[in-house]
Parts: sequence; C-alpha cells; structure tokens
Amino acid sequence: MSRLTGKVALVTGASRGIGAAIAIRLAQEGADVAITYVNSRDKANGVVHGIRELGRRGLALAADSANPHATIEAVDHTVAELGRIDILVSNAGIGYWKPFDEFSLDEFDRVTAVNVRAVFTGAQAAARHMVKGGRIITIGSCNAERVPMPGSTLYAMSKSALIGLTKGMARDLGPRGITANLVQPGPVDTDMNPADGARADSLRALMALGHYGTGDDIGGFVAYLASDESRFITGAALTIDGGYNI
Ligand code: NDP
Repeated sequence: MSRLTGKVALVTGASRGIGAAIAIRLAQEGADVAITYVNSRDKANGVVHGIRELGRRGLALAADSANPHATIEAVDHTVAELGRIDILVSNAGIGYWKPFDEFSLDEFDRVTAVNVRAVFTGAQAAARHMVKGGRIITIGSCNAERVPMPGSTLYAMSKSALIGLTKGMARDLGPRGITANLVQPGPVDTDMNPADGARADSLRALMALGHYGTGDDIGGFVAYLASDESRFITGAALTIDGGYNI
C-alpha cells in the first residue's frame, strides 16, 4: 500500500483511539505523519514509534485544541519539521453526555472550542500551506443529523456544525484543487465509547450490523479520502456507522 507516498499528514488527537488508528493507517500507506495530543505523551510517543517502524517520519506535538493558537502552531510546526502539509485530519473531539438542562456554560464553550473552533483554525492554517491535491478531513459523528440517544445535545450540536463548515470550505477551496470532507463514524470501541461501556448495548441495538467498529475501519476510509482516488469527492458528510443512522 503506497497511495500516500510523498504526502505529509497531521492528525489531531491521535495519541489513542480513532486518531491513533488513522495516523498508523496513513503511515502504512506511505505518508509521513505528525500527531497532536493533550495529556497522553507516552501514548503519543508510542504512536510515533509505530509510524517510524513503518519507515515513515513521525512527530508528536503537544497541542490542546481548546487553544486555537495551539492548533495553528501544530500546523506550522508540521510544515517546519516535515516540509509541507497535504492532509489534515481534524480528529480531536470531546463530549459531555447529560440531560439538556444540566449543561454548564463552560461545557458549552469547551465542546465548541475543541470540536468546532479548532477544526476551523486548523483547516485555515493548513489551507494556507496546501497545494493542489490537499485534503481536509474532519471527524464528525453519526450523532449530528440524527440524535437517537438522550443526553447528546452539545455533542450533536458541535458535530452538526461541522457539516456546514465542511461544505463552506469545500466551496472556497475547490477552485484550488483542495477537497474538504466530513467523516461521521458510528460507535467505535475507544476510551470515549468502550464497547463494554454502560451505553454500549443500547447503541448496538440501533445498529444494522449490531457491533462496534474499530479504529482501523475509520482509518481505512480516511486513507481513501486522503488519496488521489477520492479526488471527485468534496463537501460530503460521509457516514460510516454500521447502520446506526439508517
Ligand atoms: P478518545 O477519547 O478515545 O481519544 C481522544 C483523543 O483526542 C486522544 O488522543 C486525546 O489526547 C485527544 N484529545 C482530547 N482532547 C483534546 C484536545 N483538547 N486537544 C487535542 N487532543 C485532544 O476519542 P475517540 O478516539 O473515540 O474519538 C475520536 C474522534 O472521533 C472524536 O472527534 C469523536 O467525537 C469522534 N467519534 C467517536 C466515536 C466513537 O464511538 N468512539 C463515534 C463518532 C465520532 P490525550 O490522549 O492526550 O488525552
């Protein structure tokens, strides 16, 4: 697999979970990959070790997406260290699940900052460096256009905002040959949403396939979107959810 040879990618929030799987998959397909993390330095270094074992260049950057300047600096750092940026995967995301009237203003602000503002600032910074063939890929959620579970208001709000952001970016960057797409995963077994967690059985009950996905299920799809094969896809919100939202 070498669809991404010569490309440089930045994946945010990739010390573990879906982001880590995406980072490794992009490296398997030939890309040099920088990643960001906020707390898990050892795990981030482990992912970079895995990238380097594949013969690719890897870089771990501490960058809290709640700070918009940190995201911009991560893009600039990637370009300074790895020479360019062709693929931005904005994956870092958080959620709070509770009844609507219990959300705090701080939670509203933090979800918006990490899940939406950082995607905007990161994409804006990356687009300044990207040339024709650039790929802006954002990880949304199946809980956006549809919200079948209670307690999801802030999370769903933030993830549905990415649909409009993606379409707008696609319009403005299309003439430069840069695509922007949104990947909307269903339940994937990670620390955020463990397959043996309290909500897992009710989520599985909504899914046509009846089981959680893996990080690599998402990584393979992202690698396709990052490659030249996806060149005619832009502005799309693409669901990969085991039939959660049918
Ligand atoms: P996890 O909570 O398992 O992992 C989150 C990753 O993001 C970690 O690497 C974490 O770094 C990093 N991160 C968290 N906050 C920040 C921040 N403020 N700045 C930078 N990095 C941060 O999440 P998942 O892997 O499950 O989710 C990844 C993405 O996929 C998210 O956007 C999520 O909303 C989305 N998603 C997940 C689904 C699921 O079922 N798992 C379903 C649909 C969408 P650190 O280790 O340093 O804390």
